[in-house]
Amino acid sequence: MQSVQTTLLAVDPLQPAPADIERAAALLRAGQLVVFPTETVYGLGADALQVQAVHSIFTAKGRPYSDPLIVHIAEYQTLAMLVTHIPQDALRLAEAFWPGPLTLVLPAHERVPRIVTAGMPTVAVRMPRHPVALALIRATATQIAAPSANRFMHISPTTAQHAFTDLHGRVPLILDAGPCEIGVESTVLDLSTDIPTLLRPGGVSLEMLRTLLPTVQHFTSPRASSLEQNIADAHKSPGQMLVHYAPTVPTYLFDGSLSQIHTAMLTTIQQHLAQGQHVGVLIADEDLSALQNSGAKLYTLGSLTQPEQIAAHLFAGLRALEEANVTLILCRTFAEQGIGLAIQDRLLKASGSKIITVS
Ligand code: AMP
Ligand code: MG
Repeated sequence: MQSVQTTLLAVDPLQPAPADIERAAALLRAGQLVVFPTETVYGLGADALQVQAVHSIFTAKGRPYSDPLIVHIAEYQTLAMLVTHIPQDALRLAEAFWPGPLTLVLPAHERVPRIVTAGMPTVAVRMPRHPVALALIRATATQIAAPSANRFMHISPTTAQHAFTDLHGRVPLILDAGPCEIGVESTVLDLSTDIPTLLRPGGVSLEMLRTLLPTVQHFTSPRASSLEQNIADAHKSPGQMLVHYAPTVPTYLFDGSLSQIHTAMLTTIQQHLAQGQHVGVLIADEDLSALQNSGAKLYTLGSLTQPEQIAAHLFAGLRALEEANVTLILCRTFAEQGIGLAIQDRLLKASGSKIITVS
């Protein structure tokens, strides 16, 4: 693809200047790409109704056409333009969680280009709550199709700098509104089937969904044995790729009690340091004293008592270790409650489900 000059434009996260928003909206209306902040991660946006523009999202990311995109809206009424039918459950959930990190999968209206839905009869829709995202969608006066603004298979970006690292030369404009509040992608809930199904845990927890919709079930795809198998599975069930958020460095998860994890990590670190490797470790505050003299490069995500902080720092941590040129990343597992389910899901994907259970 032809290289373009990429501008990083700093905008106020709460009250972006109308001229800056208009500059981005004009590009989107002209069928070009813009990276913009949301409360979950940065998105790579295009006008969802312009087929050529949506094509360029896939080209810029190197994303396979089998992976569908989320359509972002700013007004509740817009949902009716994108789907054939709005079930009562969708209305209740939208009322409770929009604007916010919940994506609803519903039967697609024929108006939605098939390239957006990966040829499927359903479309994923979300109303983000980031003021810059909402202002941009409104100024563009269309719906914005946007996946995360990273190269395919890389870690989702939670800062504009992350998006720049992955996409410079491939997009004309990146709006920089600072780090994302939530830091993991939206919850994806399929309401097109008889039983509402959680396809991806995210910013709205399973517990929160079940307070309104007790029947929600959690879809867990079988653990793929290889990348090839993973890609084959993904074609059967779009968006369910296990190795998806993979850092370029092999990543291992440690499960067990606090002291068991520390002992096992220290042993692993020593073995690999002895082989001349550079080891990176993603830890919680509670792990710091046990590991600080280990010789590994440490990145602290926050306290186990504040999983929202852990989620917000997770992708930046993976990228920081990658950029520190470590040859191996070790990470602890996290309790799968609330946002913890999303944290654990992303770590499983980053590690290709390589879990070391210590007992
Ligand atoms: P990204 O924004 O990069 O996280 O990618 C969008 C994700 O949304 C996909 O990978 C899927 O997980 C999900 N998604 C989008 N459209 C659909 C759909 N029609 N059915 C199921 N999942 C979808
Ligand atoms: Mg993505």
